[in-house]
Amino acid sequence: MASPFKTLDDAKLDGQRVLVRVDLNVPMENGEVSDATRIERVLPTIREISDKGGKVILLAHFGRPKGRDLKETLAPVAKAVEQHLGRAVAFAEDCIGDVAKKAVDAMKKGDVLLLENTRFHPQEEKNDPEFTKALAANGDLFVNDAFSAAHRAHASTEGLAKILPAYAGRTMQAEIEALSKALEKPERPVAAVVGGAKISTKLELLGNLVRKVDILIIAGGMANTFLAAQGKAIGKSLCEKDLLDTAKSILAEAEKAKCEIVLPQQVVVAKEFKAGAESRIASADDVHDDEMILDIGPDEACRIAGILARAKTLVWNGPFGAFEIAPFDKGTVSVAQDAARLTREGKLLSVAGGGDTVSALNHAHAADDFTYVSTAGGAFLEWLEGKALPGVEVLRKN
Ligand code: AMP
Repeated sequence: MASPFKTLDDAKLDGQRVLVRVDLNVPMENGEVSDATRIERVLPTIREISDKGGKVILLAHFGRPKGRDLKETLAPVAKAVEQHLGRAVAFAEDCIGDVAKKAVDAMKKGDVLLLENTRFHPQEEKNDPEFTKALAANGDLFVNDAFSAAHRAHASTEGLAKILPAYAGRTMQAEIEALSKALEKPERPVAAVVGGAKISTKLELLGNLVRKVDILIIAGGMANTFLAAQGKAIGKSLCEKDLLDTAKSILAEAEKAKCEIVLPQQVVVAKEFKAGAESRIASADDVHDDEMILDIGPDEACRIAGILARAKTLVWNGPFGAFEIAPFDKGTVSVAQDAARLTREGKLLSVAGGGDTVSALNHAHAADDFTYVSTAGGAFLEWLEGKALPGVEVLRKN
């Protein structure tokens, strides 16, 4: 099916100076990249442009510097990209002006160059037109491969796409295709898991999903607030007491939209929030005053596996319990492995994302079997909230 977005298939790359926005905001420890996932993800786009004779000029932000601050230079990241790419990657100490121009002018077809942190210029985040023009001076085309930065209308994510011919890179393309298969034109029934600590950070997301999905599985700490709103005793569990009415109105909205809400019926409770704490399996109707809910119980995990077995599509954000501390990871691990198995068997299209979700799925050794796992935190959540992402919208074919 033809993509509604302009992709590398539509671009003439040979001999062109291609400004490629990538996400190289990688974690560093002692001056070294400690997790290269983001680097790995942009390699296909870099290789394809280079192999087709384009000059690959990488643009990226790193951290949150206030002006030029060498603590947040991309220089060590250039070396890491070079290692993973297996080709030379040059580095220029500025992303605009004479320094950038000189480095770009020296490039031959197929060369790769990384320009210094775009956020060394405060105009980047202001989407300043003069700064955008200064970036554009070094490119004939613009390719955006940074879905994770696409919720921000910055010069290097949105501004450039307005003044240069603009295309989605392969990683951006894969991300938007996976996400639209899961929520825009999904095979039904669609189930969503929304877990994690609090409702307050996921209100818009819950509001949007209630309208879009057939089954909404509410999990983790936020389920406690819903249980409390239904009049259940939840002991000293994490709960947002000021949001009980909000929880009730989400339940009412779901009923109106014919969205089935799934709340835990069996839970794991403990008196202390610590690894190895003594715990017991309890009905959600039988939580004592001195106990807190920290996970779902095994019967509940089984019940959810049954629900997923009747779904065709799954969208997942947030864990079922306090998965970082054993044994309260069991519920999340069990459901993640069931979703992975159903996906492997071709029965489920599964898309997951958000910081904690990626680590929870990795912990369960389930991430590789999911149809798509998004590493884009904020952008993934805004997409789940139903918001248009400025960096994606500008890449649509007219
Ligand atoms: P979020 O960042 O909103 O996705 O929340 C993830 C965090 O929620 C993780 O650190 C979990 O440990 C925490 N969490 C999940 N379930 C519970 C629970 N029942 N009680 C306390 N914390 C929880």
